[in-house]
Amino acid sequence: MSLEFSQELDNSPIISPTFAPQDAGEIGLRPKMLSDYTGQEKAKGNLSVYIEAARRRKEPLDHTLLYGPPGLGKTTLAGVIANEMGVNIRITSGPAIEKPGDLAALLTNLNPGDILFIDEIHRLNRVVEEILYPAMEDFAIDIIVGKGPSANSIRLDLPKFTLVGATTRAGQLSAPLRDRFGVSLRLELYTPEELAKIVTRSATILGMDIDPKGAMEIASRSRGTPRIANRFLRRVRDFAQVMGDGTITKEAAQMALQRLEVDELGLDNIDRRMLTAIIRNYSGGPVGLETLAATIGEEAVTLEDVYEPYLMQLGFLTRTPRGRCVTPLAYEHLHIPCPGIIPTEQMSLDL
Ligand code: ADP
Repeated sequence: MSLEFSQELDNSPIISPTFAPQDAGEIGLRPKMLSDYTGQEKAKGNLSVYIEAARRRKEPLDHTLLYGPPGLGKTTLAGVIANEMGVNIRITSGPAIEKPGDLAALLTNLNPGDILFIDEIHRLNRVVEEILYPAMEDFAIDIIVGKGPSANSIRLDLPKFTLVGATTRAGQLSAPLRDRFGVSLRLELYTPEELAKIVTRSATILGMDIDPKGAMEIASRSRGTPRIANRFLRRVRDFAQVMGDGTITKEAAQMALQRLEVDELGLDNIDRRMLTAIIRNYSGGPVGLETLAATIGEEAVTLEDVYEPYLMQLGFLTRTPRGRCVTPLAYEHLHIPCPGIIPTEQMSLDL
């Protein structure tokens, strides 16, 4: 019952990697230090060197850009940086800073060394962004006082701070902004093994009993994304409590996720409709994104941001200049005979 209720309140797809009201509980699950932060070894390795170097020099960390798909831990990592550096963090987002004055207020209230975290930084408006340039470069902002001919520009010094920006679309960042970040770290989709560790850690914090196969079952259906893994964990717990003895086993995970129409690879019915439409209506592709979206009655941006990254990572979908194509692997997964059976390696060479 509670499952249907929460789904009704929150109509984003269960496999959506973006924050939804049902994820409110995830805040308590955020790792605090680099040592609790699972995976992302490359980003973590570089970051720990930069943090250590900044600490030794007793200087704030360089401005840092974190980019990658939603739900992979960008906000979490910003908090980890603040804890490792022993400073405070102020969290805001691009669309929330409407006027230059909003940003000036945030900046002038920082203490030396503090972190200002701006999520969705690609959505900052131009006027606000221009205030950020001298703030990042010279730790100063120019404020206009008065109006008309008597208006004056006053330069206000800021404490030395670190800007941590997060974006899902690094390509949309303007060059002057991108160039002002000294450090740029890309977050990748997690492996099932890493997600199983994250699920087990979350279960321990929430006081749930979980067995390793149960954790792996949830992990392998979570589309490489910790936010989805933690969401599935809560759903599976409901099933395990109502239908079993409360322990999260492989069987409980399979049953719960089957009910939520998430298959063993983490695909939901929109993924399946998308692939099937390309196969049935467009002979496997290529088909343009807008046409495909109209065919299945979904928004093009949802298909692009939520569905495609994972389907491409699985090797089920390819993007070509003429549109999207389905690969033989997808035919196989959907149990649809593949005409001509072109081996996947051959296809990628042709593209
Ligand atoms: P983003 O900002 O990239 O959308 P978040 O930082 O909000 O993602 O992460 C979503 C949730 O996933 C967090 O609340 C946290 O519980 C979990 N999470 C993310 N990355 C990790 C990680 N490396 N280890 C453990 N949990 C993680």
